[in-house]
Amino acid sequence: MENSIPVPEYLREIGYAEKRRNNFLQMGIHCQCGCEDFYIYTASTSHNGKEFDEWHKAEKEYFRSLGVEIYGKSCYIDKNDGLTYETAYVNGKYIGKLLFDPPKFWSAYVIGAKCSRCGKKHLIFDNTRFGYNGRIVDTEEKADYGKMKFRQIRRKLSPDFIYKIKIEIENDESLKEFQSACSEQYTYEQYSEAFSQISVYLSHNGKKVRIYEEETS
Ligand SMILES: [Zn+2]
Repeated sequence: MENSIPVPEYLREIGYAEKRRNNFLQMGIHCQCGCEDFYIYTASTSHNGKEFDEWHKAEKEYFRSLGVEIYGKSCYIDKNDGLTYETAYVNGKYIGKLLFDPPKFWSAYVIGAKCSRCGKKHLIFDNTRFGYNGRIVDTEEKADYGKMKFRQIRRKLSPDFIYKIKIEIENDESLKEFQSACSEQYTYEQYSEAFSQISVYLSHNGKKVRIYEEETS
């Protein structure tokens, strides 16, 4: 158990391991009724995307006006006021001082599936709740499914838009490494959901397409 990635707890009733090697796990998905064919729905939303872009543009312009490219910058906390500032380190000197206060930006992506036989709905992925960032880094707002617009995925590989689902995850850490890096209090269930990478595929008659991929840590 220590050395293999577990099926994430939230998929425990519908996910089963197909392939495992080192830090990699491939899962198939079935409904509790036994059916493996689903209609697929996705929704996404983001907050402060425009505000964040504007802030980032202003930041770039400030450093450009000093003749500095933005990727040379670093952050520090000023002892006098306790605020975080950005500066750029160029040729042994720090250049510029800009208050670092980007608007809180987050984006949510959710994948759901509906069983083609019994109609039961299943959550396949939600990046605000699962994966290392969603599960452990508790700074983002959680996706509110009631406020999101779900759209059915209609890829041509299936004429009736019914697909089998494959999920692949990677986890860079063992449970022990995870607990010593984060907290000993984290459980095996939390670890199982704190994977570092996910890819979601749909397949039909041997043809397969990837509909989502994210580095979740
Ligand atoms: Zn079913």
